[in-house]
Amino acid sequence: MSQTQGEKPVVRQSSVVRVAAYVASVGEGNKFKKLDLFKAVEGVAQADRRMRDLRTMGWKIDNYKMNPSLLPDEYLIRAIGTRVDLGAKAPVSRKSISGPKRRRIIERDGHACQVCGSAAGAEFADAAGRFAMLSIGHIIPVARGGGDEDDNLRAECQRCNDESRDVSIDPPTAAQVITEASNAGGIKEKRVLYNWMAAGRRSVDDKERIFNMWARLPEAQRREAMAALAEQVIKLSN
Ligand SMILES: [Zn+2]
Repeated sequence: MSQTQGEKPVVRQSSVVRVAAYVASVGEGNKFKKLDLFKAVEGVAQADRRMRDLRTMGWKIDNYKMNPSLLPDEYLIRAIGTRVDLGAKAPVSRKSISGPKRRRIIERDGHACQVCGSAAGAEFADAAGRFAMLSIGHIIPVARGGGDEDDNLRAECQRCNDESRDVSIDPPTAAQVITEASNAGGIKEKRVLYNWMAAGRRSVDDKERIFNMWARLPEAQRREAMAALAEQVIKLSN
């Protein structure tokens, strides 16, 4: 049901608006099935992705991975967020971190997501055709009192920065992490890993940092940099 009184009727409602209208019509505290959604917003491509967009606007929609009492095709509406279906504007993300600070953090973090390791502009290893775009995230979320100090900031790709996360990938269990960490090399590697965990972000070694910078160069400049390095390698090996 679109609300158009006093305004020119919207010619084409955006996909996210149509999904919002449906979810709002089901109502807070109620469940719906994926198929009901697809039927209600026929013609909307990737309606489940648009639901993820809603999650970034304060909509709390649980799926079975977040709420084990749900069936795999069921969703539970815990909270209705910004009513984009009624013309409300989604809140603009807080822009309290200045440009120079953002650049400094991204440089410090070697132009790579500190959560999944994806380099800026690189294709995700598990999602062909999707490329990492970096932004700044808070290690302790602002909502839980985290501040904008450098120590609480890290470079994050859009997938890791998205509050709703990418639910298409099963999250690991603590047991898996402990097993893998136990098998991860000797004391030196374990110390490095522990320090990363304590800081909430990885340290980037120079090679990685320079590689990620190089990967962002245009083709011709990448070749120029490679040629310069090749020259040095030849000189050093003589
Ligand atoms: Zn990431």
